[in-house]
Amino acid sequence: MSGSIPDLFETPKPEERIDQRVAALRSRLQAYDHAYYVLDAPEVPDAEYDRLFRELQALEQAHPECITPDSPTQRVSGAVSEAFASVRHRIPMLSIRTETDTSEQGARAFDARIRKELELEPGDPPVAYVGELKFDGLAISLRYQDRVLVQAATRGDGEQGEDVTHTIRTVRQIPMRLPDDAPADLEVRGEVYLRRDDFEAMNQRQRERGDKTFVNPRNAAAGAVRQLDPALTAQRPLSFFAYVLAHAEPPLALSTHAQTLEQLKAWGFAVAHQTRVVMGADGLVGFHAQVGAERDQLPFDIDGVVYKVNRLDWQRRLGFVTREPRWAVAHKYPAQEQLTEVLAIEVQVGRTGKLTPVAKLSPVFVGGVTVTNATLHNAEEVARKDVRVGDTVIVRRAGDVIPEVVCVVLERRPEGTTPFEMPTHCPVCQSPAEREADEVDARCIGGLFCSAQRKQALLHFASRKALDIEDLGEKLVDQLVDQGLVHTVPDVYRLGFVQWVALERMGEKSAHNLLAALEASKRTTLARFIYALGIRHVGERTAKDLALHFGQLDALMDAPEAALLEVRDVGPVVARSVRHFFDQPHHREVVEQLRACGLHWPESESVSERPKPLAGQILVITGTLAHFGRDALTEQLESLGAKVTGSVSKKTTAVIAGTEAGSKLTKAQELGIPVWDEDQLKAVLAQAAAAT
Ligand code: NAD
Repeated sequence: MSGSIPDLFETPKPEERIDQRVAALRSRLQAYDHAYYVLDAPEVPDAEYDRLFRELQALEQAHPECITPDSPTQRVSGAVSEAFASVRHRIPMLSIRTETDTSEQGARAFDARIRKELELEPGDPPVAYVGELKFDGLAISLRYQDRVLVQAATRGDGEQGEDVTHTIRTVRQIPMRLPDDAPADLEVRGEVYLRRDDFEAMNQRQRERGDKTFVNPRNAAAGAVRQLDPALTAQRPLSFFAYVLAHAEPPLALSTHAQTLEQLKAWGFAVAHQTRVVMGADGLVGFHAQVGAERDQLPFDIDGVVYKVNRLDWQRRLGFVTREPRWAVAHKYPAQEQLTEVLAIEVQVGRTGKLTPVAKLSPVFVGGVTVTNATLHNAEEVARKDVRVGDTVIVRRAGDVIPEVVCVVLERRPEGTTPFEMPTHCPVCQSPAEREADEVDARCIGGLFCSAQRKQALLHFASRKALDIEDLGEKLVDQLVDQGLVHTVPDVYRLGFVQWVALERMGEKSAHNLLAALEASKRTTLARFIYALGIRHVGERTAKDLALHFGQLDALMDAPEAALLEVRDVGPVVARSVRHFFDQPHHREVVEQLRACGLHWPESESVSERPKPLAGQILVITGTLAHFGRDALTEQLESLGAKVTGSVSKKTTAVIAGTEAGSKLTKAQELGIPVWDEDQLKAVLAQAAAAT
């Protein structure tokens, strides 16, 4: 970034003149706009951008003589790249005023402003609003002529956008054709976004390939839309929500925004189901609180909610200010990205010996929690991002995803920092750390000799999905391993009351409880037992499949790789890992010792008892799927309880659409039946698998 721009991270110096500060803020915001809108690679978190934006707004308000028409406060930011044909919007695409007071006061202030503008008396009934989600994606305007999608454009500077029809055609949720009752000339606007799981999967793939990861779902989505080659866009599974009807000819007889959204839904557009009509300030406050509580569980990022006056005639009456409609406001939530400082980089050792560099951070409130640690994944990732101790970094925490360092703010790097180097030896047991040729992760080869791995192995063994020994938490495990009481997992069953009660923070009652919990854990299932062993690549799902397939532990322990490959969803990596595990005499020894301690399970878990998580689903498969054979998929869906049929009807609960899907897809859209693309299908299968 240009060195001529004064440093704005500092608070203004007393001698700095107002006009200098205004100019500095302006050029800095313009530079950030360029990185964000043109390069799809933001340099600072939104919270930081918003802070500077507000400072500029306040200064301009107090000193109107400083306002210039090109100030970021006076225009819709964004730019039109020359790589795309430009599109002049018939109706400008505006921004939305942001209410940054994240408390309920923000909602009340908006309602008060609207009532005042509409000259309502205190005794008048509450105003009806539509509460919507504020999706963190990219605004797109879609133009349909004679019910066929003819043009898709980005917002650009609000007046002029970029023609991205070629990439938007790859977005499954955007109808290419509308039903016959839609007007001949129609313009619909909404947000293209990337689901969080799609984003995580994409970044995981990037990491495995040793490629640069994407900063956040918004920028990954924006980058995908603004591609010249639609084949590249198609690799990123974009989604879409519609939120406004910008133009219809012949006009429609609609009187509220809620009716508009219903109409959009009827034509096959996705409208977020959280959208709701609410009454008055209390209604807004309730909506903000409810969505806020659900935010982490949503499958996509939102940075707030949007309130819109429901009556369209009132919207017209309220009109616009420079860059924003008066009848809408965005009410934010705490930011999911923040700036903070890296205090140290520690290397943690996992259950399988994997060494993970973790950034210790100056505590920062992000995504609704205080974050002090963030994963740096592996040495390559640290090198690629060049994260150093002392750096200021952007930290992201969205949903339940573990906090992550997104990137370094290079302009804030202090002098004298050095690149991070991954240790060549395990920081816990000093065994060499090795990296297999095809892997990015370094691993300590110490195995159970390494106390960190012993601790993790024990915690995994006791975890909820394994033997579920709730009281055996981290503090106790630390003591057991550090005091040399437990070397291998079976040791934990051999400790007596006297040893337990002697541990720190252990009263007589807790010791009795623990012994009882250990006793209870001995009666388990084969699947849990296999999972508890902590075999690499064997998660809960695979453990269940192995248990169902082999029925007995000995059969599994002796199974050659070829036999393992016959198990549902088991590929060569898992088969090799299972074989490798049981080939090691000390692992067999552990199993025998556990059996000798009294661990047992019912013989042969029958396939017929498998739950049917997709029961009640009536599905139709259409088009070509890249990762599934039709027959195998049908079989899999049926084994999970779904019914797979050949034609779409009102009874169909979802349509699975591959490429070149034809009339079945159109019919599903007409009937408003959910359509799953391949990634959504994968998500459904994963969820169903987790439930069996
Ligand atoms: P905005 O994103 O805050 O609001 C307007 C946009 O909201 C619309 O264009 C639309 O895309 C979107 N939107 C989502 N849900 C909507 C709904 N239900 N109804 C209507 N619109 C909806 O405003 P903006 O002007 O596009 O962008 C400004 C924001 O971008 C700032 O708040 C800032 O955080 C961020 N930004 C960040 C940087 C950076 O460097 N980090 C740079 C520039 C801008």
